[in-house]
Amino acid sequence: MTLKKIYPLFINGEFVDSSNGAFFDTYNPATGEVLAQVAKGTKEDVDKAVAAARQAFKQGPWSKMTGAKRARLLNEIARIMRNRLDEITELEVLNSGKTVPTAKGQIIQAIEDFEFYASATVTLAGQTVPMPNGFFTYTLKEPLGVCGQIIPWNYPFMMAAWKIAPALAAGCTVILKPASNTPITALLLAEICQEAGVPAGVVNVVSGSGAEIGPYISDHPGIDKIAFTGETATGKDIMARAAHTIKRVTLELGGKSANIVFDDADIDAAVDGSLHGIYYNTGQSCEARSRLFVHEKIYDAFMGKFLDKVSRIQVGDPFDSSVHVGAIVSKAQEQVIDQYVRIAEEEGAEVLYGGRRPEGPGFENGYWYMPTVIANVTNNMRVAQEEIFGPVVVVMKFREEEDVIKQANDSMYGLAGAVWTRDHARAYRVSSAIRAGIVMVNSPISAFPGVAFGGYKQSGFGRELALETLNLYTETKSVVSYVGKRPLNLLGVK
Ligand code: NAP
Ligand code: MG
Repeated sequence: MTLKKIYPLFINGEFVDSSNGAFFDTYNPATGEVLAQVAKGTKEDVDKAVAAARQAFKQGPWSKMTGAKRARLLNEIARIMRNRLDEITELEVLNSGKTVPTAKGQIIQAIEDFEFYASATVTLAGQTVPMPNGFFTYTLKEPLGVCGQIIPWNYPFMMAAWKIAPALAAGCTVILKPASNTPITALLLAEICQEAGVPAGVVNVVSGSGAEIGPYISDHPGIDKIAFTGETATGKDIMARAAHTIKRVTLELGGKSANIVFDDADIDAAVDGSLHGIYYNTGQSCEARSRLFVHEKIYDAFMGKFLDKVSRIQVGDPFDSSVHVGAIVSKAQEQVIDQYVRIAEEEGAEVLYGGRRPEGPGFENGYWYMPTVIANVTNNMRVAQEEIFGPVVVVMKFREEEDVIKQANDSMYGLAGAVWTRDHARAYRVSSAIRAGIVMVNSPISAFPGVAFGGYKQSGFGRELALETLNLYTETKSVVSYVGKRPLNLLGVK
């Protein structure tokens, strides 16, 4: 067990206490016990981290390093992560309550993100531009600068990797703020970057209250870009504040994604995919397919199988290998989920399964919620429009393709969507019509390094995980040279 009692901030290559010595408790969601104490960063600490990141950016070598050398360091981070996979997994499970296979899969993806961006960094290059006679023009891809990166609690280590890997690949320096529920593994990633040889000041991690230091980061004149993942409401505040200094902003926000099962679907595959689509990560996924639309012709057959499998989901100790679904991240989140289920009942919907905290041995402490299925829902109800961020699916029946597309798009969100059908033409039509950044066809998963991930509408903008993400961490500079023989006197003044 490598759990420490105290986790300091990581600023300018050193683990340090916060400027006023304050700490906050972080918990094990499966037991409700305090896991460790974490330094509570202040505005002064943000200033120190920004100064370190600015200095590191200005003096190099990081921002001026060759792609090949940067790639070597990114690969070295991945290698150390792979060596410490079990340790990172254990800490992630302890701090987030997710099951071991869930955590391990996400950490393996984080490793592959670093490997992907290690390769991608060598592709960063400008162009020469065809020009009229006498002109020679080229573009440079320059690192954007100092990036503030603010992440949520649902994929603590993987989100840190999604943010840090492309920023480093582009030659930027970062100040990462992890979520207060789950700060431990992001601090571990900082340690790994240092061990790999990333220079001091390039990666800084400042844990602390988002309400206190979050707006300060968004306002900060020393920060060039904010990359944020979290709630849409927080994203709006960040975007408004960033406007004052014209910071670059990328936002990965909430979702209420549609999962559409047509009458020609492979029902068993659709049942398993729909289960994973909502109960993976205890439903605490931005891309959770939380609105399930089932064609009326197969509704009874599908729901019979779906409910049977839901009733066989084992909830419990995330370290128990027979468990499918772990804990909820916090008491507050457990309460939010339960409130939504009560709202659904008030709106006239029917809870077919779950709808409460599990009872009995193992559930005396910690934060839990049963896998929940709600039917008799219409798409205008609050439970169909608002993100619950828990293991709760709302089910609706449909008849016409056109109508289900309309309902799927009737949402302020546009992060993901899923289509289950054996008809290729329909799969193509529906995928094209869904206003979302990621559409899964007969697939329960979507996030792979190299595949752009991000939202339409109020699910945000900018893409992560892909080659194009590097553009969002670079500026393009055009250098226009006149190389003609005759001097140019365009105003014509003699
Ligand atoms: P959140 O409440 O918005 O918090 C996210 C981060 O922002 C945390 O580090 C938080 O700090 C910080 N924060 C809070 N208030 C802030 C402010 N005014 N200014 C700047 N930062 C502030 O989100 P969450 O509850 O942690 O995460 C769940 C949300 O993330 C869901 O909506 C989910 O859909 C979304 N999500 C989206 C994606 C995607 O790729 N689209 C991926 C994962 C999650 P504290 O923790 O200290 O409050
Ligand atoms: Mg929140």
